[in-house]
Amino acid sequence: MDLFEKCIGFYSDPKVAQKYGYPLNPRTAQAMGMFPYFIPIEQPEGTEVYIHGKKFIMIGSNNYVGLTNHPKVKEAAIEAIRKYGTSCTGSRFLNGTLDLHLELEERLAKYVDMEAALVFSTGFQVNLGTIPAVMDRDDIVITDQEVHASIIDGVRMAKVLKNVQPRHYRHNDMADLEKVMKSLPPDPAKLVIVDGVFSMGGDIAKLPEIIPICKKFGARLMVDDAHSLGVLGGGRGTGHHFGCQKDVDLVMGTFSKSLASVGGFIAGPKEAVHWIQMFARPFIFSASLPPSNVATVIACLDILEQEPERIERVNKIGERVRTELKTMGYDIGETETPIIPIIIGDMMKTIQAWKVLCEAGIYTNVALPPAVPPELALLRTSYMATHTDEQIDRVLEVFRKVKDEVHIG
Ligand code: PMP
Repeated sequence: MDLFEKCIGFYSDPKVAQKYGYPLNPRTAQAMGMFPYFIPIEQPEGTEVYIHGKKFIMIGSNNYVGLTNHPKVKEAAIEAIRKYGTSCTGSRFLNGTLDLHLELEERLAKYVDMEAALVFSTGFQVNLGTIPAVMDRDDIVITDQEVHASIIDGVRMAKVLKNVQPRHYRHNDMADLEKVMKSLPPDPAKLVIVDGVFSMGGDIAKLPEIIPICKKFGARLMVDDAHSLGVLGGGRGTGHHFGCQKDVDLVMGTFSKSLASVGGFIAGPKEAVHWIQMFARPFIFSASLPPSNVATVIACLDILEQEPERIERVNKIGERVRTELKTMGYDIGETETPIIPIIIGDMMKTIQAWKVLCEAGIYTNVALPPAVPPELALLRTSYMATHTDEQIDRVLEVFRKVKDEVHIG
């Protein structure tokens, strides 16, 4: 069979699309106005965006503290380009380390209160590289069932490279975590990995319960704080939110959300971070983060420290929207953050709801199978500190309409 035969089928034949996990082939869905992905945004201005010349209120962004268009942030990026140029054209290992990278690593370590930090070129690469690097042959890695794809792939890589044994426990189910830990042999080294805030559900990992279990069974704990930075714990993440950061062994963060850029970091004890620096392949064999991105993150950290009211604001908006959506009768799962899923379940109804929102000028994201289990199709809404009260009023007004028009719940 020719290698591209499946691609040609997938392009035009719904049956082939179904075989590969999509209910419709994307081209057909697009023609029907039922394909909610890859929509080109023309003018992103934070809380408002333009698509085909039409203005939308954005409730589908991870720009939680609204810094992507902050004048000081933009100026820092431009200044870095003036001073350093546009790229480092090399790995951090070789010609790709700037004094600016080291400055950022020091700032990040202080911000999350860890001994050291190491900057990667994407958050995905942090997980993909760190997990196989810290594990040794036949070690065991235990993850919550709903961790991010980059953790799943990091674990897969660790299995391929070092025969690391993967184990899962049911989402945020502490009895199941304890049961899994009890079933493990005592000798291999163990690492438990969770999302601090789960990226689809917006719920928070139960660190105060996870930590004693890790200690009891001699496991280290890694927390992916991609969605917690800038939001929880005064912006400093999930461990700070619960006052238990000293018991978290490794913290992972991304720059692609509150920190208004792209890239990521791992933070922890200096020896562990040094080890990761020497062994994480996506860190070693990929070009370093460009100077403008590094300078952006430094400027964002300055602003987060100087303007804590942004963090309060995004959480306040989150609380208001959660309360009002619940009152309307929506199923928003277990979220406690400004990531607010609207769990609809039925795939067609979810797309219909997305369409009604679009027609009313509200941009949001759709998560369908295979991204979520078949019965959990949802709209993933998320909010920014820079949303005005009037914008939120409008969003809620449209959600009232959606509930009736699409017969949800
Ligand atoms: N971890 C989590 C929990 C995420 O949600 C994401 C991105 N959506 C990543 C890691 C990867 O981050 P990045 O976008 O920086 O590659």
